Amino acid sequence: MTYKSTRGNFSTDSRHAVLQGIAPDGGLFTSPEITDIHFDWKRCITLPTEQMATEILKALLPDFSEMEKLVEKAYHGKFEPEDLTPLVQVGENWILELFRGPTSAFKDVALSMLPQLITAARKQTGCSDRIVILTATSGDTGKAALEGFHNVEGTQIIVFYPYGGVSEIQKAQMTTQEGENVKVCAVRGNFDDCQRGVKQAFGEISKKIQGTGKTLSSANSINIGRLAPQVVYYFSAYRDLLKAGRIGMGDKVDYVVPTGNFGDILAGFYAKLMGLPVGMLICAANVNNVLTEFIRTGKYNRNRPFYKTDSPSMDILVSSNLERLLYLACGKNTEKVSKWMQSLSTSGEFEVDSETLCYIQRSFGTWYCTQEETTEEIRDCWEKNHYLIDPHTAVAWHAARRLRESGKSSNPTVVLSTASPYKFPQAVLKALGTQTDGNGFKMIRTLHSITGIPVPSNLSALENKQEKFTDVINADEIVSYVLKELEQWK
Ligand SMILES: *Cc1c(COP(=O)(O)O)cnc(C)c1O
Repeated sequence: MTYKSTRGNFSTDSRHAVLQGIAPDGGLFTSPEITDIHFDWKRCITLPTEQMATEILKALLPDFSEMEKLVEKAYHGKFEPEDLTPLVQVGENWILELFRGPTSAFKDVALSMLPQLITAARKQTGCSDRIVILTATSGDTGKAALEGFHNVEGTQIIVFYPYGGVSEIQKAQMTTQEGENVKVCAVRGNFDDCQRGVKQAFGEISKKIQGTGKTLSSANSINIGRLAPQVVYYFSAYRDLLKAGRIGMGDKVDYVVPTGNFGDILAGFYAKLMGLPVGMLICAANVNNVLTEFIRTGKYNRNRPFYKTDSPSMDILVSSNLERLLYLACGKNTEKVSKWMQSLSTSGEFEVDSETLCYIQRSFGTWYCTQEETTEEIRDCWEKNHYLIDPHTAVAWHAARRLRESGKSSNPTVVLSTASPYKFPQAVLKALGTQTDGNGFKMIRTLHSITGIPVPSNLSALENKQEKFTDVINADEIVSYVLKELEQWK
């Protein structure tokens, strides 16, 4: 399987694609062969989760040897449930609990695996460079990446998060991170500013440091090694529905995905291309609804107000992974993709042709959710089902409700639950109609006393940890910050 840049002729194998993170021309590595892949999905859904992950990752990243070992090292004993991502019935829908890993967000599924892939790619390709991971985070990727990479030999990691743009608990998770090879920095701006700064750093620094013993890579879902592990839980959810007798072999299942950078939902599309009977993939957004509009109309326009919401990990106006979908949707025409991306970067907008839009609409539906509706869904779900959802999951829960009410689909619906409600205690308490005084940790205790739901130990342990990182910079200082860090890490 070759990997090609979505913007040009640059091609490489899966190991080098993982090591580099982003293509030299600014495009994303995508395999054009994904649409013709022969994958025995029927056998795959009979397997336990770790074996399932091995088969899927072998198919998507075929140049890696010893995938089974890498999967075992990544996951064994790291998640609270043995099958990593349990599926539970809540009301009329199914919730796929993706947040039971070491940092209580779904990013753990991929970021437990990525360090294994990077370490293996380094060894297997004979690369002796130190891999410096640059990461922009809307709140959850940062911590999950730090947890995955801290003290991993041959790697260093720098995380940039929006100053004042993450929850108090998310901030504490990152700024207390231990490890010799980690660095965390706040950026005055939003996630898009962080992501743009990091992409700029790739563009300006990658070439400059060639031959100095260091290579830049990414832990964001622009890295295919981050995206591929996310395909697995679409299969495991299907397997669990089959096992529960809720579907027959080959029946279609809809997936509703709270979406920001479009990585998670794109993994669902990959699962579909691999043969899994996926019905609709519903892109659920908050009021930063740039994707909703795009999927409806084919017009992408980031020139709009940016809202800070209770679901901060989805406060994004430039969704990187959409580029991978566009590449497939327009018939793998890299010139078209380059033109759209160029237009996005210069004028903030682009519009796709009707064939491209049709391709997208065949698989993707969409809904967005206001702030009040998010709050209402958390409360309603708790009152009706005694099941507590976080604000991101609530956005998807809302979309699932709307899908059902629309009568457009009668398939079983799986809602991807992307974070523990304890990462966002203030928003959740507000939804339950309770006072939100005190700091985040006090709110966690209040939430626990009201609901009785166990607090993940990684979160309660934070309260006594020392804050280690206090740097705050402007977005246009990201490149020089990275250069300075590269200097210091001799
Ligand atoms: C990252 C994140 C999302 C969005 O996922 P994308 O892959 O960026 O679309 C949704 N919910 C939570 C809690 C997240 O951390």
